[in-house]
Order: sequence, then structure tokens, then C-alpha cells
Amino acid sequence: MGKIIRLAGIEVMPGEKFQDFITVPGTEYKTPVTIVNGKQDGRTIYISTGVHGGEYPGVAAVSEVSSKLSPEEVSGAVIFTNCLNYSGMTGMYDAVVPEDGENINRKFPGSPEGTVTDRIRDFIVREIYPQVEFIADLHSGGAYESLSSCVFFPAACGQEMRELVLDVCKHIDIPYLVASTASDGLYSYGCHHGVPGMILERGGHGECDPFHVEGYKRDLKNILIYFGLLNGEYEPVSAKKTVFEHASYIGTDVTGFWYPEIELDTEFKKGDRLGLIKDIFGNTLKEFIAEHDGKVLYYNGALVAIENWTNIVAYGWLE
Ligand SMILES: [Zn+2]
Repeated sequence: MGKIIRLAGIEVMPGEKFQDFITVPGTEYKTPVTIVNGKQDGRTIYISTGVHGGEYPGVAAVSEVSSKLSPEEVSGAVIFTNCLNYSGMTGMYDAVVPEDGENINRKFPGSPEGTVTDRIRDFIVREIYPQVEFIADLHSGGAYESLSSCVFFPAACGQEMRELVLDVCKHIDIPYLVASTASDGLYSYGCHHGVPGMILERGGHGECDPFHVEGYKRDLKNILIYFGLLNGEYEPVSAKKTVFEHASYIGTDVTGFWYPEIELDTEFKKGDRLGLIKDIFGNTLKEFIAEHDGKVLYYNGALVAIENWTNIVAYGWLE
């Protein structure tokens, strides 16, 4: 016998499917959810997307996959949050929940007494985590970000979890696998509390490129096959994998105009210049120099760079 999935006051029995908006407890915040509770017993997987409002490919892929998936074909259950920051995405906010200006993917575990975003975090931790055995959180570069497709995997939650997630990555068609020690985000807080998971990143710049949507659909199918929820053959994976054990995440302490001298998928050497911030008249305010041989994961794709806010560049170390 399968198990009952319970979420925000609804119950989904084995063999049933739920697809509708739910209200996050303690708020009036509505977010779209799909629960496919298989007829057959098995694992329960959480697929999240739309945490950031300017990141589209994951939302488009989950929309299609969650709509087609039926309880008849699933062994176990899948909980999808189809577009967690729904008000942010439909209001065209890049990263934050407009109700309170907060980024969901920080400050987990949240609080049942805090802001709307705090309560969304708390809802995920208290109602979703205890029911699931794996978390896959689908992101993209932000509306002003250029990004190489990459996965962030937990590197500070023990060898067993690291190896499991890297094994799942064998079936994910994404080239760069980045060790992460983060602990206060949607998937990373889960990892630090015993639920393995990963962030997947494809696309960026506010685009919904079909190449990345199709890629995400294949990744999702393979995750469900990996954990035994679906039968059938894995979708083929062609990406050659690079594991980055270390990465640099560089912000800026000046505001100005950013002129990158790097490209995605291109190696650079320690000492190479990554780019410049200039003032409006072209005078250099700051130079960014690589401290390691590396490869770009993502970089600011806007002309403007804002002090203590813009992610200038993130790169993995080649050692
Ligand atoms: Zn994101």
C-alpha cells in the first residue's frame, strides 16, 4: 500500500493526483502545487522550481512534466511546487517575493511567525521535508545573469550523501558539478537535515530557451527513473562532467558599469583579468583578477553592477 501525502490541509491518497493552488499556512499566499501519488508504493521526491521569479526554463519544464504524469505510471509519489514564488514570477520580479522583498532561498528554516517568505520556508521544512527522500530544485541564471549549466551538490553533509547525489548526476545532462557547503537554502537546509538533494541550473538572462526546457524534462525523467518512480530507459546524457571542489563567488564593493572580459565555457589562468567596473565616463573604478585557474559558472550580464548586491562572477577552480 502506498502512503497518504498531506500538504497545507489537503490529503492525496495513493492512486490520486492533486493539481491546484494551495495557501501557505498562516498566510494568504497562494502557490501552485502538483502531487502525483502513485498507485504503487515507492519513494517520494520533491521537485521545486520558480523560487526566483526571473528563472523560466524549470517552470516551463515542470508545468509540462507535472501535467502529464499520472498516478498509474508512478511507483511512489512526486510533490511539485510548480512555481513557488508565483507572485514574484507573475509580477516579473527577478529574485524576491514581492510581498516582503525577501529571497526565499536564504535564511532557511524560516519561521511560522515571520514574514510571508519566512512562513513559506517554514512550510517547506515542516510539511514537505518529512515526507520526501530527495529534493531537486530547478533554477536558472537570473534575468541579468549569464550562466553555464551546472549542478550544486552537497559537500558538507557526509560522504554518503555526496556520493548519492553525484551518482544521480551521472543521469543529469549538465557539465559542471559544483561542491557546495551552503546550509540555509531550500535544498541545502534539507541536505543538512538528512534529505539529499541538489540545485540544477540551466539558462538565464530571463530567457525560456526550449533547449534548456527540453534538457530539464530529460533530467526530471531520469531522476524519477533513478529513484524507481518510473520504469523505462534513461534519456541519454552527453555532457562531459567536470567536478569543481572549490569555487569563488565574487561580488562588488563599488557601483558602476561592468565590462566582463570572460566568457562561458572558457578557461582562464590565475592572474587573468575577469573584467572591469568603470564609471559612466569610462574611468576604471575596480579591476577583478582571477586568483585561481578557473572556468566561469555564471557572471553579471547587466551593464550595471551594484555595490553589495550584484554577483559579478562565480567560477570553479581548475586545479
Ligand atoms: Zn535561482
